[in-house]
Amino acid sequence: MREGARADTDEMDNDRGAGLDRAHALAVQWLDSLAARPVPPRLTSEEMAGRLERVLPAGPTNIAAVVDELAAACDPGLTAMPGGRFFGFVIGGTHPAALAVDWLVSAWDQNTGLRVLTPAHSAVEDLTEAWLLDLLGLPPGGAVGFVTGGTMANFTCLAAARDEVLRRHGWDVATQGLADSPGVRVLVGAERHDTIDLALRYLGLGSPEAVAADDQGRIEPAALAAALEAGDGRPTTVCLQAGNVHSGAFDPFAPCIAAAHDAGAWVHVDGAFGLFAAASPARRHLVAGFEDADSWATDAHKTLNVPYDCGLAIVRDRAALRAAMGMHGDYLIHDVAGEPLDKVPEISRRGRAFPVWAVLRALGRNGVADLVDGFCAHARAFADGIAAIDGAEVLNDVDFTQVCASFGGDDHTRGVVEAMLADGTAWTTGSRWRGRAVLRVSVSNWSTTDEDVAVSLDALRRAAAR
Ligand SMILES: *Cc1c(COP(=O)(O)O)cnc(C)c1O
Repeated sequence: MREGARADTDEMDNDRGAGLDRAHALAVQWLDSLAARPVPPRLTSEEMAGRLERVLPAGPTNIAAVVDELAAACDPGLTAMPGGRFFGFVIGGTHPAALAVDWLVSAWDQNTGLRVLTPAHSAVEDLTEAWLLDLLGLPPGGAVGFVTGGTMANFTCLAAARDEVLRRHGWDVATQGLADSPGVRVLVGAERHDTIDLALRYLGLGSPEAVAADDQGRIEPAALAAALEAGDGRPTTVCLQAGNVHSGAFDPFAPCIAAAHDAGAWVHVDGAFGLFAAASPARRHLVAGFEDADSWATDAHKTLNVPYDCGLAIVRDRAALRAAMGMHGDYLIHDVAGEPLDKVPEISRRGRAFPVWAVLRALGRNGVADLVDGFCAHARAFADGIAAIDGAEVLNDVDFTQVCASFGGDDHTRGVVEAMLADGTAWTTGSRWRGRAVLRVSVSNWSTTDEDVAVSLDALRRAAAR
């Protein structure tokens, strides 16, 4: 090797080491700051834009300096989402085991689509698939695709559903397309998550037919049975929900799945954050009968607390999933066990199974149950604390991780949401549910403590008393 080339390599190694050291130090600094820093960001995206160097430099910059520059510029625009007092949307935290392993995922940089390329990830993915099916009490022969999130998990499962119900009517979507097909009728609960509609749009299925829901947002089994009966004989898919984002409620799976299967329909369950109720013996009753469905979507980056982005597309019939997602190009090496890329829309992707394996390995079966039960206990504490505030009312049955509250009139409730943001102690979400303005609390972070809930309730009392 030329002397100059060796010197360049040495310099790069030093540069790399220094860059990684800086990233590690800054990551730890960030995590340590979460307990004390205000939860909301201090600057808007427009204000943040002014902190970044606008001119793309012509030449190289030392890696540690690049890392430092970004971290310094970004700090005021970061939200304390991984902290214990972020209760907005349904976000999930990052368990330290999953975070540590996620760093390795980037360093290892494995393209995990094919077994022959990355046997380590394939073996871990197979094992994690088996662990997840066992933990959730789902059919052991099912397939788990590791996708980017709940939206893509719904998309992936509903693609398998679309192709299979049409196949049963003698139509092959892969070769014949959709244009002249019998079409697919899709029945959903009135309070399904919007991403179901999005997935159906991506799949060329148009808008679904909404079936009435009860006061907790659960699909009405009698209304579903009537809708199925009024069917025109077209191929049908039914989408149920495990975990309503407002109430945390679960659809009544047993009667709905039985009616749907009697009608020859495929049943899909969107359990983006609620599916993991199945992993807790104390909450398992919430999902009773859900194991009879045909597919289930969930997020590992929500309740299971792995970093973004990781969703799980679970399908009972592996062949149906492979038929919908598999790629059969001649240059791809195909293993008899099936390729990981046959279960997901992507060809190239990162090693998403590694952090999922890590959190399951670190927590164990009981640890996952404790994680879920802890979220539920903190949601219960929020509900009790809110109910004791003058004029406040908890609008949902708090059986899971979500609390939906009104603080009197809609204007006052919206004012409480704004005052919470201005206060900065905790992040809660403003929303509308069943015709009323609501403040929503979602508990989904392993690091939330009793003290976090107590100081957040103090903030809510201050906001409500304004
Ligand atoms: C979050 C969520 C989704 C979408 O998941 P992403 O990971 O954000 O794509 C779908 N359904 C429900 C019920 C959700 O809570």
